[in-house]
Amino acid sequence: MSNGNGNGSDTPQYDVVIVGAGVSGNLIAKQLGLAGKKVLILEAGPAVPDSREQYMENFYLALAKTPESPYPSLAGRIGPGVGTLPNPSEIPTPRATVLSIGAPPDVSHLIQSETAGVSGTTPDNQPEVRQLQFSSTYDRIGGGTAWHWLGSVPRLVPHDLTMKTTYGVFYDWPIEYSEMQTLWGLAESEIGVAASVTQQVPLQAAIGMVYPPGYEYPMGPIPSSVVDQTVSNGVSGMSVPGEGSEGGKEYSVFVTNTPAGRNSEPYQDRRVCAGNTNCIPICPIQAKWDPTVTLGDALNTGNVTVSYQSVAVNIAVDGNNVTQVDYLKWSYDDKGNLQSTPASVTGKIYVSACHAIENAKLLLLSNDQKGIANKSDQVGRNLMDHVLYLAWALAPSQVWGYRGPLATGGIESLRDGEFRTNRAAFRMEIGNEGWNFACGDPYTTTLDFVTGSNGSQLNSGPTRLGGTALVNTLNDRLTRQFRFGLLLEQAPQADNRVTIDQNNTDGLKIPRPHVDYGFDKYTLEGFRVAAETCSAIFQQMGAQEFTQPTVNPYPKDKYPDGKTMGPGDFNYEKKMYHMYGAGHIMGTHRMGTDPCTSVVDATQKSHDVQNLWIVGSGSFPTVATANPTLTIMALAFKSAEAIKAALGA
Ligand SMILES: Cc1cc2nc3c(=O)[nH]c(=O)nc-3n(C[C@H](O)[C@H](O)[C@H](O)COP(=O)(O)OP(=O)(O)OC[C@H]3O[C@@H](n4cnc5c(N)ncnc54)[C@H](O)[C@@H]3O)c2cc1C
Ligand code: SF4
Repeated sequence: MSNGNGNGSDTPQYDVVIVGAGVSGNLIAKQLGLAGKKVLILEAGPAVPDSREQYMENFYLALAKTPESPYPSLAGRIGPGVGTLPNPSEIPTPRATVLSIGAPPDVSHLIQSETAGVSGTTPDNQPEVRQLQFSSTYDRIGGGTAWHWLGSVPRLVPHDLTMKTTYGVFYDWPIEYSEMQTLWGLAESEIGVAASVTQQVPLQAAIGMVYPPGYEYPMGPIPSSVVDQTVSNGVSGMSVPGEGSEGGKEYSVFVTNTPAGRNSEPYQDRRVCAGNTNCIPICPIQAKWDPTVTLGDALNTGNVTVSYQSVAVNIAVDGNNVTQVDYLKWSYDDKGNLQSTPASVTGKIYVSACHAIENAKLLLLSNDQKGIANKSDQVGRNLMDHVLYLAWALAPSQVWGYRGPLATGGIESLRDGEFRTNRAAFRMEIGNEGWNFACGDPYTTTLDFVTGSNGSQLNSGPTRLGGTALVNTLNDRLTRQFRFGLLLEQAPQADNRVTIDQNNTDGLKIPRPHVDYGFDKYTLEGFRVAAETCSAIFQQMGAQEFTQPTVNPYPKDKYPDGKTMGPGDFNYEKKMYHMYGAGHIMGTHRMGTDPCTSVVDATQKSHDVQNLWIVGSGSFPTVATANPTLTIMALAFKSAEAIKAALGA
């Protein structure tokens, strides 16, 4: 393969070669560029557009407003050829979309089609559910997945880093909380986080959330939504048992404002949030931080270059060192045919920043598919998400959703406690978009009362309305809808695993990732208590609950054996649940001090390969309950310092 510079010299072309222009890759590139290091980023997807209007146009035209709908590769768009999904075997940078995951037959290839959570027991007689459809998606475009993130940026709590020491389960992180506090501060400054330390004070006694003395967020908080205020009033003085119906110590329930990656005041030339509830999939005015902000800073150093449409396929290793990265540069010819050219690039140091699933895939593909950096056999294992339990209700009075960002507050007081010895903790996000997530409202309820259907469950009559009666009914129902999204801590399990799928290749003939996924008792118990806690809170508030155990029954003709459970559905203790992906993909190259049981060290450097850093949420040994991106960025700052030191800067 060509080494890309055409000089045939042994001198590395760059100080650092980074694979992936997402959150981690861009931040490390910026830090190295500022230090005068020459950096190349290989990015699989198309370039960041000059104006986000291009992406807005895609979003306006998309019939299904999924998280991926504004972005290229057609993924998530039902455009030309209505009713079809992109065929991953024909496009250069495929990835799962929320539509492909839900649609039979499964074209996401993240797990075999025709599977639904199968309940059973482990050899030592513990309950488990296997064959679950992994339901979180990611993007492969310049700027990465956090184009369409929500922007919630809570910190971890101290016990999240010491699960083994404190609760006797899983692993400790190889980093002290005090060091993370410094690193989170850097990340909050990079993003421009809107929050108030004073507002977080009640969480100190509840879950040990502490800040360094005198610390202030870069800007004041985004105002709480009316939904937050209604829930806050409704749960006043309430507590719940840590083990749910099994009893246990009581934990107080209260609402706090969520630290947000969006501007409450102008920050670094970006505007103030206008509160139009479109954060997922795209902020039209970039009031919400996204990784293209950091990429712009990186490019402005004059030391960073990006090669778009460049898919890394092999990290070549000689002994204990990477020697080059091989990649395919793709384009479409005049007739629309996909074509690609192989190339290679050299550096002194290499960083794999492709996100948890694609990082694992790239490591496993390398070295003629014998894999690299995997003496521990942990690459691809321990895949985790903050699996999401969704619960929804009608409040007794108007809560006026859709005013402000998609979420501004949550119940954080249940994120830590002695119960973590036995079951997953959760943070409760309070949604501000009615039942949009739950059942596709406001469209579904409107359709119900016009046509006499009952997709929303609000028209059980059923009735068909028009004129003033329709307007009054919709005004009453839609303005009282709200939901909770519970982000559950998932247990690390070796058999929750990314491997490479030899039977499914993409348009560049690269094998696609395959995922095996399920829940153990720890996570299942978390679901049980999550459901009970939501019901108890709705009851306390006088709200009428409408949570459905399954939202996605497959048509029976797709399943001759009569299965009616769809992806994400499962049974536990004779009750049916549905789980959603949170979009938080973690754990496939975990960090630790022992090279026998972990893939990277505390700086995210490979234990096995001396000049390779493997970065992102794949490094998390445990996932706790905080949305991951703030911690991804904190760790990226630490990696950048270690790389600078290794380069002798
Ligand atoms: C709907 C949704 C909402 C979310 N909301 C939040 C939130 O509120 N708070 C939060 O903390 N997190 C949130 N997240 C998660 C957040 O988006 C991710 O944690 C974050 O984007 C991960 O950053 P990353 O840099 O590791 O990966 P990515 O952002 O995915 O970037 C990886 C990059 O690598 C590139 N790449 C992949 N493979 C290759 C290859 N072989 N060669 C070259 N390049 C490659 C990709 O194209 C991509 O640009 C959300 C996610 C989703 C899906
Ligand atoms: S509410 Fe609107 S302006 Fe504010 S961050 Fe979300 S999309 Fe952007």
